[in-house]
Amino acid sequence: MSSNIEWVHCNKCLHLTKHEILKEHNCEDKDKYLDFVIWWNTKYTLFICCGCESVTLRRQYTCSEWESNQQEIEFYPPQVSRRLPQWQDKLPVEMQDLLAEVYIALHSNSRRLALMGARTVIDMFILDKIGDIGTFEEKLKKLVDGGYLGSKQRDILKVVLDAGSAAAHRGYNPSPEDLNHVIDVVESLLQFYIFEVQSNSVKVKIPPRARRTN
Ligand SMILES: [Zn+2]
Repeated sequence: MSSNIEWVHCNKCLHLTKHEILKEHNCEDKDKYLDFVIWWNTKYTLFICCGCESVTLRRQYTCSEWESNQQEIEFYPPQVSRRLPQWQDKLPVEMQDLLAEVYIALHSNSRRLALMGARTVIDMFILDKIGDIGTFEEKLKKLVDGGYLGSKQRDILKVVLDAGSAAAHRGYNPSPEDLNHVIDVVESLLQFYIFEVQSNSVKVKIPPRARRTN
């Protein structure tokens, strides 16, 4: 492979793709401490995806006091593993806004904020669909009774909301994998808004039954 090509995650293609290096720049500095010289280096690399032509910047920072292969690596914009669902613009406006904020937190790796936001989305869904009634357990039961949740989904949702509460009150920081499960649950719930729109649209198109004349 050419030396100016690297495999890098692409935020648009959503997987590793070949990237061409457009520009590299090193910022080096050093200082003397007693008889030692300490140095640190920040390397910036500007890439373009060979597939979709998205451009991304990588920052690599290392220091002489670290292990030989130790370095900080950051990407701008941050690397993402999922995008806002295409149907998000069919959601109620306040849900769209909140979901967009959850994704901003996801993309900046602010996992606690993303989890707290996910919990708020679910709370808003419950308030919208069944109202502010009873305990949380009772609300979940109402969601199951109303056909919004299966009993297994209810169990997942309980874990999700407990996790969201733990993020808010006890500093719990979910792993990227756990957070992805949470977002899966949130999105499956929100899709009820889309199903309702589709169902109403189908109902409008179905011709009424002909009235019997005899
Ligand atoms: Zn790409």
